[in-house]
Amino acid sequence: MRHVAIVGSGPAGYYTAETLQKADDIAVDVIDRLPVPYGLIRTGVAPDHQSIKAVSRRYEGTALTDNVRFVGHVSVGSDVTIDELVGLYDAVVLATGAPNDRPLDIPGAGLAGVIGSAAFVGWYNGHPDFAGLDPPLDAPGIAVIGNGNVALDVARILAKTPGEFGGSDIVAHARDALAKSAVREIHILGRRGPHQIAMTPKELGELGHLERASPRVDPADLPPEGDDAMLEPGMRKSVTHLRQFAANPVAKPVTIDFDFFAMPVAIEGEGKVQRVIVERTTLDEDLRSHGTSETYAVEAGLVISCIGYQTPPIPGVPYEHGRGRFASDEGRILPGLYAVGWARRGPSGTIGTNKPDGARIGEMVLEDIGRGAGKAGRPGLDALLAGRGISPVTFRDWRRIEEAEVAAALDGNPREKFTSIEAMLQAIGR
Ligand code: NAP
Repeated sequence: MRHVAIVGSGPAGYYTAETLQKADDIAVDVIDRLPVPYGLIRTGVAPDHQSIKAVSRRYEGTALTDNVRFVGHVSVGSDVTIDELVGLYDAVVLATGAPNDRPLDIPGAGLAGVIGSAAFVGWYNGHPDFAGLDPPLDAPGIAVIGNGNVALDVARILAKTPGEFGGSDIVAHARDALAKSAVREIHILGRRGPHQIAMTPKELGELGHLERASPRVDPADLPPEGDDAMLEPGMRKSVTHLRQFAANPVAKPVTIDFDFFAMPVAIEGEGKVQRVIVERTTLDEDLRSHGTSETYAVEAGLVISCIGYQTPPIPGVPYEHGRGRFASDEGRILPGLYAVGWARRGPSGTIGTNKPDGARIGEMVLEDIGRGAGKAGRPGLDALLAGRGISPVTFRDWRRIEEAEVAAALDGNPREKFTSIEAMLQAIGR
């Protein structure tokens, strides 16, 4: 028997498990710190993008195969160490994603009301770590920093009316707080221009169909239309949306302003954020942005920085600080230790990008471990955890938590999530 542990039950973890479980004589344990599986599908993907979340049914199929087991509510690092796992399993695959925000390194970034997207997205998605965030939504201005899809998710969620959350699984605390929001102007600050955005067309197009909010683009920021021809087709579609927003400004109570060539250089306020100081930029030949020393202020009572994520380092595991990911040779970190998904590649690509990644790492592991080295594996982990008084949450337990969440859903919504670990455990009688 060969034994593999996967740390992290998000897309990268389950796509890896999907490949591994097809092999003979293998036992795969998918370990997660939370009592609930699916990682970013549950707590990252926007609650109004249910079609993307539907992929969790595929992971469920993998989780329910005989040779795959979910080991929930077990923290690697405190309940069990990486070294212990490497001792117990033929291979340990880190599929821990990139849950930490890249720091916004400007004066004032520590003021109250300046929040990273990991925290804000975690808050509206009911991640137990961020359920108590309580972001200030009492000022009309909000600044969203970054020109990626996360900035779009955040701006759209801030702009939606309660009715537009019908059919979503946004959690009650966010639904209630957003319903009372004073927001009138959302500024999306991009340090480069329309041709340098990292936003995909479908997500950008959604901004054109909001009930009370409309996007604004200054036509002067757009490059000559002929230049769009050199863009790859997806980007061209995205830029076409921006051109449409610029050509047809629609008056609605909430505006979503795209501030291009706009680099936040400081955040100011008395005890809490009141404004972002933005420096206008130009681009050099290599399309890098440079300040022009012309500045302006964006009034904002909440600043959400959506400038990318990083994987938290683990002591003793080689790490690339500049890239915010584990250091690996195509996935091999150290003998018996692997990385997959964002923990390997860094925080880019869609959920689907993890599918070929998981398959490759799964095959690499199978090739490396051969028939296995007679390690203790699953029974070994169970004995170690039992000795420490730790009782993992099983997949069967998770399905009971899920049933309770589905039963608590508002009419038309798929579920009402538990937002604390205690409430999740209570649902299974612990
Ligand atoms: P991202 O796509 O890497 O975008 C990060 C943005 O932050 C870029 O516009 C970048 O600008 C900007 N930025 C970085 N450092 C900055 C700084 N110091 N000051 C100002 N701006 C800064 O990251 P993301 O939006 O977090 O998304 C992560 C991944 O998840 C992406 O692959 C994304 O497509 C994916 N995702 C997909 C969906 C979806 O498909 N619906 C939803 C959410 C996320 P520069 O280009 O100038 O560096």
